[in-house]
Amino acid sequence: MMMKTYNFCTWHVMTLILVCGMALPNTVAEDLQRYTYQEIAMSISVRIVVCAESESKAQLAAESAFRRVHELDAIMTDYDSDSELMQLCRQGGKTSEPVVVSNDLYRVLQKSKQFSTDSQGAFDITVGPIVRLWRRARRLHEFPEKRLLDDALVLVGNDLWEIDAETQSVTIKKDKVSFDLGAIAKGYIIDQAIAVLKRHGIAAALVDAGGDIRVYGIPGDNNANGWLIGVSAHDKEVGRVVSDGIAMASSGDLSRYVMLDGVRYSHIVDPKTGTGLTTQTAVTVFAPDATTADALATALSVLPPEEGLKLLTKYEGTAAMICRQSPQNTHVTQNKAEVWYSEKWGPLVTAVELSE
Ligand code: AMP
Ligand code: MG
Repeated sequence: MMMKTYNFCTWHVMTLILVCGMALPNTVAEDLQRYTYQEIAMSISVRIVVCAESESKAQLAAESAFRRVHELDAIMTDYDSDSELMQLCRQGGKTSEPVVVSNDLYRVLQKSKQFSTDSQGAFDITVGPIVRLWRRARRLHEFPEKRLLDDALVLVGNDLWEIDAETQSVTIKKDKVSFDLGAIAKGYIIDQAIAVLKRHGIAAALVDAGGDIRVYGIPGDNNANGWLIGVSAHDKEVGRVVSDGIAMASSGDLSRYVMLDGVRYSHIVDPKTGTGLTTQTAVTVFAPDATTADALATALSVLPPEEGLKLLTKYEGTAAMICRQSPQNTHVTQNKAEVWYSEKWGPLVTAVELSE
């Protein structure tokens, strides 16, 4: 594990894709062209870049991938009380009986259970009631009521639900437990969109959902053996990855937070305390698939950096960078941020040195 300390004017860390085909189309290889498509799903802009022999092939594949994206979004959203996820919570919570779920919901819930167990509860999809209180706090710019937070905390815990592989069912042990897949569904949906593009015989593609991305194949127009992905901190490029198959996710309170009494509370909550994170952590994770990258990026935002990096060692092919502001400096913008890198970060990411 490596750690460095930097002075940032602000400490934001974000990622960017350096080469991802904005033109429609532009030649990438003798017989491949690059096509870019964009739609709104999960309340964010989803971009699919397809390298194909013809526009008709690219369009067919992208349309099919977007259909899958919307289908999965409808199943997993907690913003629609009729989604399969919300129906499961209502029905399962009231009866405490096993509820059979669709293949997709089963797979995401099964992975969620695993990430929750592995992260010792730092990642926990039962944060729904807590997250809702903090969403309200962001809207109204006021602290959630302590009484409401205490009531909501009773509904949080990986032990409050079970999943059964044989019957593909979920048992929710307490009424009003509410799942929130906001930290993992995006990754799963990216992975499924990639699977559709592969089934259509697309040689190389990129799916970008609000900065979480997955790429495969060789686009052919950047003289590199794959897609060129840039990682930036405070709008400065800090690293580059060239890959023909990788996913990257970022988590943190870059854009979704509320300032209360001069302290910044993130949209990511600590399931143990019910509080929005105030550590001002920003995490970038690389993984072989987007589901893993997405879930781990959230888990690593919650865990102390050393524990987060330990968690990462359980997942092959992963690498992470964690930037964290010293807690005593949360009131100021001109401050110090500490940066941790997993062991695999160095070999994977070609560093571009940050200036102090
Ligand atoms: P991400 O941007 O992937 O880190 O996901 C953040 C979203 O996941 C939040 O907006 C919540 O909907 C949900 N969430 C917040 N805290 C947690 C947590 N500790 N574990 C799982 N999901 C969370
Ligand atoms: Mg996540």
